[in-house]
Amino acid sequence: MSARAIHVIGAGVAGLSAAVRLSETIADTTIIVHEATAQAGGRCRSYYDHALDMVIDNGNHLLLSGNHAAMAFLKAIGQDGALSGPPHTEFPFIDLATRTRWCLRPNPGRLAWWVLSPSRRAPDTRLREYLAPLNLLRAPKGTPISAAMTCSGTAYERLWRPILLAALNTEPPEADASLAGAVIRETLFMGGKAYRPLIARAGLSATLVEPAIRHLQARGATIRFEHNLHALQFAGPRVSALDFGTDKVLLASDDAVVLAVPPFMARTLVPDLSTPDAYRAIVNGHFAFVPPPGFPPMMGVVNATVEWIFAFPGRLSVTVSGADRLLNVPREQLAETLWREVAAVAGIAEELPPWQIVRERRATFAALPEQNARRPGARTRWDNLVLAGDWTATGLPATIEGAIRSGNAAAALLNRRAAGALNRPS
Ligand SMILES: Cc1cc2nc3c(=O)[nH]c(=O)nc-3n(C[C@H](O)[C@H](O)[C@H](O)COP(=O)(O)OP(=O)(O)OC[C@H]3O[C@@H](n4cnc5c(N)ncnc54)[C@H](O)[C@@H]3O)c2cc1C
Repeated sequence: MSARAIHVIGAGVAGLSAAVRLSETIADTTIIVHEATAQAGGRCRSYYDHALDMVIDNGNHLLLSGNHAAMAFLKAIGQDGALSGPPHTEFPFIDLATRTRWCLRPNPGRLAWWVLSPSRRAPDTRLREYLAPLNLLRAPKGTPISAAMTCSGTAYERLWRPILLAALNTEPPEADASLAGAVIRETLFMGGKAYRPLIARAGLSATLVEPAIRHLQARGATIRFEHNLHALQFAGPRVSALDFGTDKVLLASDDAVVLAVPPFMARTLVPDLSTPDAYRAIVNGHFAFVPPPGFPPMMGVVNATVEWIFAFPGRLSVTVSGADRLLNVPREQLAETLWREVAAVAGIAEELPPWQIVRERRATFAALPEQNARRPGARTRWDNLVLAGDWTATGLPATIEGAIRSGNAAAALLNRRAAGALNRPS
């Protein structure tokens, strides 16, 4: 008798985390990951860029030390400690309009005494402005951030807007307060040790993706690239076949499917599925320029187009979130604007080095209350079909942490079902 099979559709972080979790928790089961493209990682991947002549990530991805599911995933795939960041939690900033520089330096513990120390805070901010996000924790479901806290003033511009925009990829006033509250609860409210900034200096693929593939293959899983699912076929309460166009996989009675594709694709595959359907862009500018000595690994910029600057070996990269307004700006013009700002921040020559602009139009779903309400859980009305993806109802915005948790949730659901089937009298 052949072993039970679980088919994971989509080798983004959500699909990979589901597959890794299943490979560790479920016995006598073959895991097959089907990925439409030639490369795993989805929106979290690296590639060789000809303009820069180096491998870069599709976007600069920031994790925080309190992202416990991401940390557990890295540990599971043998990449514990592979992310890099400053030894202590700190966020250097510059206001490009006034050239004021500061460094947020939270203390590690939960008792946030650092907000009492003006030298650890943003300049010209008051203590009570640091309590503003408390209201996000109690915000009623479906309300925007602007209903829970004041979205103006110096502390908002120098602290809360940069943090919330980076976390939600949506302008904070209109973004969902409960999603912001979840981020605050898991990071800022846990103390500085929970929001030490971490990046994959060796690249997203080398750190998060390729080790996961190797881990899965070592456990007997199969990864099929360029294997694009065209349709799911249903028979009563079950998915009965996977139609890949060129070939079709018939599912045995105890086979199951984790659908870990983006929401726009999930909607075409699953009838009557509610998913987010509005997105926000992220724009990254990459510049082949060796970071000047002492330039921090990551720096926040306010009153500029650039929001964050990341220093990589041989490269300075910038991120702009909620960046739909930049989608139609000519690439050269955008590169020049971003570089002029980077040069001003870093005190370097304005002559444009080799550059690349990467615009991800549908980087994340728009973290609006009405979009958050459209997110389904892992469970579907079909017994052997579960969903994963950063857009499912994780309670978090679309992030690596959320994607990994969604994969874990999908795996847990299949595990419970497998246990239930084993316990049923035959
Ligand atoms: C530029 C950018 C910057 C970001 N910055 C951050 C950040 O700083 N921090 C952070 O935590 N998150 C960040 N994110 C968000 C993060 O990348 C995503 O939340 C996460 O990667 C989503 O993973 P996923 O597996 O849910 O979806 P995806 O990565 O979209 O994976 C879905 C996979 O399914 C495949 N697929 C689609 N259709 C089919 C099909 N029919 N058959 C087979 N396979 C299919 C796709 O090719 C893809 O590989 C950023 C995203 C972008 C784009």
